[in-house]
Amino acid sequence: MNAKEPIVKIEHVSFAYDGTLALEDVNLSVPRGDFLGVVGPNGSGKTTLLKIILGLIHPLSGTVRVFGKIPERARHLVGYVPQHAELDYSFPISVMDVVLLGRLSNRSLLGGYRKQDKRLAQEALTMVKTADLCNRRFGTLSGGQKQRVLIARALAGKPELLLLDEPTASVDGRVEEDIYGLLKKLNERVTIILVSHDLGFISTYVRHVACVNRRLSCSRTQDITGDVIDACYNGPVHMLKHKCEL
Ligand code: ADP
Ligand code: MG
Repeated sequence: MNAKEPIVKIEHVSFAYDGTLALEDVNLSVPRGDFLGVVGPNGSGKTTLLKIILGLIHPLSGTVRVFGKIPERARHLVGYVPQHAELDYSFPISVMDVVLLGRLSNRSLLGGYRKQDKRLAQEALTMVKTADLCNRRFGTLSGGQKQRVLIARALAGKPELLLLDEPTASVDGRVEEDIYGLLKKLNERVTIILVSHDLGFISTYVRHVACVNRRLSCSRTQDITGDVIDACYNGPVHMLKHKCEL
């Protein structure tokens, strides 16, 4: 694959759940190194779009290529932080064990984790500045610490593309800022697609914004105007903060 080719290329994609369209004629190209914010109202298709990029669900029509391949074939290059972590917090699992789950798809089928898995898990925890928590029980962490560990879990698979679905939905503003700062730093080496309902906030961090409302329109952060947003949300949106850094 040519280095200049987009690493995610979605063309004319539609998707329906039980006959109801959730995405309609969506086109999206994400270049390597991008930090794309995906925004839109509740139920507008943001999570559906991520699941299509992951190959967890398949479009009704249209084509999806991730690193030039069908999504299933590219999954080892993609890290995913789901909207609702499927972890049972009462289960006594350590932070290290949570992050090691991110190595499952790279692991040999025989035997347990190799030394290298542990090293990569440790590195991922260091990247998100939580190495000191590695022996803690996951359930005892704060909301922000949990999110960092879940990001580390996604990073442990050494992804070239990181997908995050509302990673700051359950944390307060200061922690949210910390996490976005961390993602901005990670973006120096990983392409990021971040789903958020909080447009004002993410416009400070991302390079491009895709507004989803069953259909999708994409703009550079600096080109985002009130009209673009209003059209996406079907009405006026209060922008909390908007600073362009490009
Ligand atoms: P968002 O992440 O933007 O809130 P979703 O992608 O989760 O939106 O959902 C888009 C639409 O598809 C919504 O109307 C939602 O109710 C519907 N939907 C999502 N998941 C399912 C499902 N598993 N079965 C049926 N409908 C679904
Ligand atoms: Mg969602």
